[in-house]
Amino acid sequence: MNEARSVSILGSTGSIGVNTLDVIARHPDRYRLFALSCATRWQELLQQCLASRPRYAVVVDPGGARALRSALVQAGSDVHVLEGEEGLVAIATHPDVDTVMAAIVGAAGLTPTIGAARAGKRVLLANKESLVMAGSFFMDAVRRGNAELLPIDSEHNAIFQCLPSGYRAGRRAAGVKRLLLTASGGPFRSCPLAELETVTPAQAVAHPNWVMGRKISVDSATMMNKGLELIEACWLFEMPSEHVEVLIHPQSVVHSLVEFQDGSVLAQMGNPDMRVPIAFGLAWPERIESGTEPLDLLASGSLGFEAPDLKRFPCLGLAMEASAAGRSHPIVLNAANEVAVEAFLAERLGFTSISRVIAATLEALPAVEPESLEHVKAIDAEARAFARRALGKAMQVEA
Ligand code: NAD
Ligand code: MG
Repeated sequence: MNEARSVSILGSTGSIGVNTLDVIARHPDRYRLFALSCATRWQELLQQCLASRPRYAVVVDPGGARALRSALVQAGSDVHVLEGEEGLVAIATHPDVDTVMAAIVGAAGLTPTIGAARAGKRVLLANKESLVMAGSFFMDAVRRGNAELLPIDSEHNAIFQCLPSGYRAGRRAAGVKRLLLTASGGPFRSCPLAELETVTPAQAVAHPNWVMGRKISVDSATMMNKGLELIEACWLFEMPSEHVEVLIHPQSVVHSLVEFQDGSVLAQMGNPDMRVPIAFGLAWPERIESGTEPLDLLASGSLGFEAPDLKRFPCLGLAMEASAAGRSHPIVLNAANEVAVEAFLAERLGFTSISRVIAATLEALPAVEPESLEHVKAIDAEARAFARRALGKAMQVEA
């Protein structure tokens, strides 16, 4: 076998990060950890450093980085600690790195993930928000850097697996007519509509099928997650949004489907276990053990499909509109959603006001054509500032 691949994980203390470490630990001959990183939780990063001995560790927060540095010295470890966004970019672009797992949540992942693409790495993309915000600049960086972009989001990974071998993300695969994105419908798929007003963060993050970080769990409960994924799919597979359909599939066994011109429909199935797409991305085009249980179709019983109800899931409707409208709409949608979800998780905003804050922000900001990555970041900042003000108004209405 070839030399071991050298891997950096952006967001190693998160749900995707921990699953990535689990898969890598099963294949010590194939993968070497180059770097781990987190935002603030340096104690968890310390444990990860001691267990898996990377060359570098990054804590974005400088105080956390100092604390990790001294704890590592005390433990006799020679892991080198970096800090700030510069630290993230350094471990995403270092010449000794082959593969970058982009698993930071939200817009914070944009700069290092694009950096990895520019530097021509294999980019394992979990951080869908960076593609939603900066799709054209991101895909341009992938092409210019000759990076290998492999989707980790289970739906996009499923679609990628259904496309002909040799397919590279960023272009339209021959003969594809439609993409069918499946969604579980989250914890509120069938609860009475009137109850949505008062659901708590704890109820919203209790996903029926997947264990994930808090932000994406709320996004699944509002179905904004599927809206972001619709935009993600358009960029990854070069599809117009009207050729991407969302289907609710409560069992989360069929992870997505591709319909071809001749009427054939291919699907990828598996347990709802992120180690499957992670192992696929790490080993592509080979296959390796992921640690998941064998899929038991008899235990799943029947597989059902239904159309999403946009009254129940207004965030999905907003994302569909933003996807079709393009320009700065997806940036504003994503920024306002991050602000509203954070406020909901902090119990400062009601669940049904999440979509109201996003709609108000989309309505207020004029649509413009993003001209550069800096412009994308400026639009993102402006949308966040407006959404924060809209939060205040939404809270007055609720009180
Ligand atoms: P999480 O909240 O569990 O972990 C987030 C990670 O990002 C942590 O390591 C955290 O330290 C780091 N982070 C947070 N803010 C940061 C900042 N400002 N700067 C640097 N690092 C920061 O999230 P997750 O569930 O692992 O999701 C990560 C990404 O993967 C998201 O974009 C999500 O949409 C996507 N994704 C997750 C799943 C899943 O099953 N969890 C599935 C598909 C896609
Ligand atoms: Mg997904």
